[in-house]
Amino acid sequence: MSKKILVLPGDGIGPEIVAEAIKVLQVINDKYTLNFELIEDAIGGAAVDRYGEPLADSTLAKAKEVDAVLLGAVGGPKWDTIERNIRPERGLLKIRSALGLFANLRPAILYPQLASASSLKAEFVAGLDILIVRELTGGIYFGEPRGIRTLENGQRQGYNTLPYSESEIRRIAQVGFEMALLRNKKLCSVDKANVMESSQLWREIVNEVAREYPSVELSHMYVDNAAMQLVRLPKQFDVIVTDNMFGDILSDQASMLTGSIGMLPSASLDENGKGMYEPSHGSAPDIAGKNIANPLATILSVAMMLRYTFKHPESANLIEKAVGLTLDKGLRTADIMSMGCEKVSTSAMGNAVVAELKKL
Ligand code: NAD
Repeated sequence: MSKKILVLPGDGIGPEIVAEAIKVLQVINDKYTLNFELIEDAIGGAAVDRYGEPLADSTLAKAKEVDAVLLGAVGGPKWDTIERNIRPERGLLKIRSALGLFANLRPAILYPQLASASSLKAEFVAGLDILIVRELTGGIYFGEPRGIRTLENGQRQGYNTLPYSESEIRRIAQVGFEMALLRNKKLCSVDKANVMESSQLWREIVNEVAREYPSVELSHMYVDNAAMQLVRLPKQFDVIVTDNMFGDILSDQASMLTGSIGMLPSASLDENGKGMYEPSHGSAPDIAGKNIANPLATILSVAMMLRYTFKHPESANLIEKAVGLTLDKGLRTADIMSMGCEKVSTSAMGNAVVAELKKL
């Protein structure tokens, strides 16, 4: 099996955190003789500087050829005033749509050692482990017709459309069920079927797909209730599957339950399990180049890559365990620092995870 990974460090803290994730990947590569081949290129502002555009065609061609992409983050003040169509974020949107990455996986995991970082009481969130599966390429963000029109009475009206075809619903539902199978076999599908036709079809198709997964316990929840339940009793959830807009909102809400943006990985997958893996946070220009950013979200993104694209759960578990052991030792980057712990740099945190990994 081919095992090529395109590494796109990007901007700001991207190169610093990706360097630590690669150290971890190399340990896994050696330990299991996985023969990963890493290819590096530029995206975002770095690509604007190198190629004159945020995602060069040659870089996209490489992205299409490899099995997985590891991305840092894009953007920064240096490129904030350049022409809109070559802004760094355009590179990100282009690569997501060109690779057909329709399934966005956003875990919200709170390591028990960091429970005090959450804005909720520790007893509600300690050990929290939710996976939100968000549909990423359809729904209201892409639906036509859309626009702003002038009505007969002279008022302007903004309008969007929320279309979902059966096949779009079926493939994201299948991802939700597959993820539930890999975890605690509970799937909650979130919609607004009491009000919207597209949600009624969503629910019907999810129920149809459920017949292929008899061992998964399926529930349905309206999105307003889901938002409430996420802060009331978040640990009731295992996997949530939902559409593009609901997923956008709920995944941000869930991520903040953990209180630490520097800890959260993400994956975006295509129909064949090829994926792009990146931390959930941005390029943090305010702390770039200081060796103080938290590399753990990117390191945990490597664990997701091993689990979902390379189907190697053993090494993914090992990385997650090494991160837990590092936190047990009281090592913290500035963003997750608390009383009685030892503040460490980006590279020291990466080295500590590597050291724990080598012991396992
Ligand atoms: P951000 O996530 O970069 O930063 C928000 C805050 O969190 C900052 O205070 C930052 O220092 C802190 N932070 C983020 N990651 C951290 C880490 N690993 N360790 C420690 N602290 C961390 O969001 P922003 O400030 O709104 O955006 C900055 C730039 O990033 C912008 O150009 C934006 O467009 C871009 N951005 C990129 C992505 C992406 O590449 N996927 C996502 C969001 C924002």
